[in-house]
Amino acid sequence: MTDIIPTPDLPHLPIEGDERHFPVRRIFCIGRNYADHAKEMGAAAEAIFFMKPADAVITSPRVPYPQGTSDLHHEVELVLALGDGGAIMGCAVGVDLTRRDLQAGMKAKGGPWEIGKSFENSAPVGLLRFGPVPERGKISLKVNGVRRQSGDLSDMILAPRRVLSELARYFTLKPGDLVFTGTPAGVGPLQRDDRVKAEISGLPPLEFTIT
Ligand code: MN
Repeated sequence: MTDIIPTPDLPHLPIEGDERHFPVRRIFCIGRNYADHAKEMGAAAEAIFFMKPADAVITSPRVPYPQGTSDLHHEVELVLALGDGGAIMGCAVGVDLTRRDLQAGMKAKGGPWEIGKSFENSAPVGLLRFGPVPERGKISLKVNGVRRQSGDLSDMILAPRRVLSELARYFTLKPGDLVFTGTPAGVGPLQRDDRVKAEISGLPPLEFTIT
């Protein structure tokens, strides 16, 4: 069989201390998983699921400011990387970039969030570390050296394993899937040339510049 167009490349994540890479199949995301962030968004603290396409992943230190928005927001998140049987293989620091103005418009219409959440390069992800999921520890994000977001992993409403068991009610989780587990309070706008540093204790930090 010959494909009529070139086979699209899967995005891949680099792995700490390993020359192999992690191919990304799908990206599941959970919203409102930290009560203080749900509150700042004026929403009930009740988990909500959405997805990004695999090619939302970007590992470059330069992240382009997306089209169609004038209110791009940062959301630092613990990212789970799934292996055989949907079991957690490792974790990384990620940022769920959000076109907040477009998301707000869709929320007002009661429509889906894709145009606010699921655009190209909307999922910067750092170096993947294999091993157990950290259950507590600081999660934070700085813009140009100024702290914007801060919280603790133990503040999650649904802990990582609960997030997976909820997802598994609706989807067959597969090797290559990523799960963004939600963000603490302090989300806010990014501009071109902003330097972003996202950190979770025990994981390699994620740094990038908006271009
Ligand atoms: Mn998010």
